[in-house]
Amino acid sequence: MAKAWAKRQRNVVAKDAAGVTIRVWEDDPGTGVLVDRPVPDLAKKPLAFAFPTPMPKPGPYQPGTLEFRYWTAAEALRRGADFWSARVPLTKWEVGPVLKVLLDEGADLNAYYDRKALNFFHGPSPKGTVYSGESPDIVCHEMGHAVLDSFKPQLWGAASHEAAAFHESFADISALLSALQLQSVRTAILTDTSGHLYQNSRLSRLAEQLGAAIRAQQPDAVDPDCLRNAVNSFTYEDPINLPQMAPASRLSSEPHSFSRLFTGAFFESLGSMLAASAADPSMPTQQELASVANDLAGILVDAIKRAPVVSSWYAQVAATMVQSAGSVNPAYPAVLRGVFVKRSILSLHSATSVETFRKSLVASAPVFDAKSQPLARLALPATHYGLDRPLLVETASQPRPFLAMAAAGDASPIEPASAPNAARAFVDDLFRGGRVDYADVGNPDAKMVHGRRLRSHRLVTEAKSFRLERQLFDCGICRRS
Ligand SMILES: [Zn+2]
Repeated sequence: MAKAWAKRQRNVVAKDAAGVTIRVWEDDPGTGVLVDRPVPDLAKKPLAFAFPTPMPKPGPYQPGTLEFRYWTAAEALRRGADFWSARVPLTKWEVGPVLKVLLDEGADLNAYYDRKALNFFHGPSPKGTVYSGESPDIVCHEMGHAVLDSFKPQLWGAASHEAAAFHESFADISALLSALQLQSVRTAILTDTSGHLYQNSRLSRLAEQLGAAIRAQQPDAVDPDCLRNAVNSFTYEDPINLPQMAPASRLSSEPHSFSRLFTGAFFESLGSMLAASAADPSMPTQQELASVANDLAGILVDAIKRAPVVSSWYAQVAATMVQSAGSVNPAYPAVLRGVFVKRSILSLHSATSVETFRKSLVASAPVFDAKSQPLARLALPATHYGLDRPLLVETASQPRPFLAMAAAGDASPIEPASAPNAARAFVDDLFRGGRVDYADVGNPDAKMVHGRRLRSHRLVTEAKSFRLERQLFDCGICRRS
């Protein structure tokens, strides 16, 4: 069946190479900018997609039609997956050669990746029904989860606030970088911001339409003008000490909220690197923007691959990015140090010593291979979760080749939490937020009820304990009750 579908898809694409185009949103229905694009080949490897059948005949459909939604999702996913497959590079998804895409799984203001498929939904908004699968921002966010899971699978199960938040940040970065693959977007954003990329724009505003729909139900759950804005002024605080939920104007340990810190640092770095490398820093060209976006994506991917999964993951990735950047462009490390120090993601000492460490490491020791190291499992006491057996969790405890530290508000370095303490704090928040499916285990007199809330994790019985298992990355952040 899948083979027959793929063959039919290829035939359609070959036939339509003669000049048929599709019409799609550039970045989000909320901004409403249309562009005509070539028909995408969903079966193209290495990162193929399986869409619902029957496939509508390609063509320039009008917004509001099922056919338009189908081709908008298809074009955005193909564009984003082509970008990442070359940059990482990837030969397949974590789930295999083909990733299923379920365009409308029912009523919900949500979308998620569950290691089986990218799942999208529809829900009410003041301006009518919104479909999360119609937004290139959202579909490229979900695909970002799948991409990161395909080359850093240890982050999936790590019991760590920073690992979970980073998954959300990488997904938003995927939406930003996928949008920047369109020349029309690059040109428009440089014009709209007068060449100063790190400004509020339709590029920095992610998922405006879904943001408006959620805001109508929960005014403080999302940013004032979108779901999340990549231009922000958040600085690092140890998520262990943050509240587990907060209004969107403040940082909390909730993964989407805490993700905004790293996304803001990434987008600010992109703007500063563009200014540092453009022939005319006051007016970079769209070609220069494409080139710097590629550079920064490569630096990020390299750092993710090389960094050990530790409780202070933000600092470890940031420091490794500083180390990687010099071989791409000598102007980049200083820019990254500046942004990460300003955001307190790196302490002054970590930012200024990391390059010296890299040089001494190259001279004296083999490079640490984070990929080959599985995460250690730890049994947490769990009676306070209503469980009569210990709870097994995967901890962010890989050995560090060097210690990168974030900074407190007074610029002093923050000693990273131990992996067990980070795991305990993360799991406490999961239970407090109702994110764990008890799956019929545990003491019924001690369970907490959290309505219809989507569960990101579940309990699995294993010998004389329970194991905490991630089911999905839930991306709607709508607190349903
Ligand atoms: Zn997400």
